[in-house]
Amino acid sequence: MEDTLIPDYVDARKIFAQQALIKGIIPVSRLSRFCELVAATQGDVQVTMKFDLDESNRRIIEGELDTQAQVLCQRCLEPMEITLHDEFRLAVVSSESKSEGLPKSLDPWICEDIKLVVAEVIEEQLILCMPIVSYHDHDCIEKLSFEATEAKENGTAKAANGANKPNPFDILKTLKDKD
Ligand SMILES: [Zn+2]
Repeated sequence: MEDTLIPDYVDARKIFAQQALIKGIIPVSRLSRFCELVAATQGDVQVTMKFDLDESNRRIIEGELDTQAQVLCQRCLEPMEITLHDEFRLAVVSSESKSEGLPKSLDPWICEDIKLVVAEVIEEQLILCMPIVSYHDHDCIEKLSFEATEAKENGTAKAANGANKPNPFDILKTLKDKD
């Protein structure tokens, strides 16, 4: 049961009135935009989505997502695993203008088609719940400062005087030549 694949899309005309519940997995590799943000594209996202109509006859999706993602630590740039969990509540509307006036507890999801692409909903929510930056829990900076020292000793400092930065000695030379 846990390995049921989430369908690519559902019929937006029926699924809300049916009060359907879908529960299963979607492979990370199927979420191309999310794949661009992570260091590895293996693994699955656990998904639960409940479709319903609320008291105002709005089409509501209540969902929950869980996955482990590989990202790069922004301190040492080595891969690390993060746990992503999200709970969301969306109101499916047929146009941008219909998303105005929704209660704050509901985020709009615009679906102009009869096909509601479930994978896109999942992908968008995953991207939204990703931390902007991630750092290892352990003190990986020690390793980094060691590497920086090593690079300096290997003459990387010399490269800094290259094309990117003007060499102050060149300016002195120009002044001298003018004399
Ligand atoms: Zn790190």
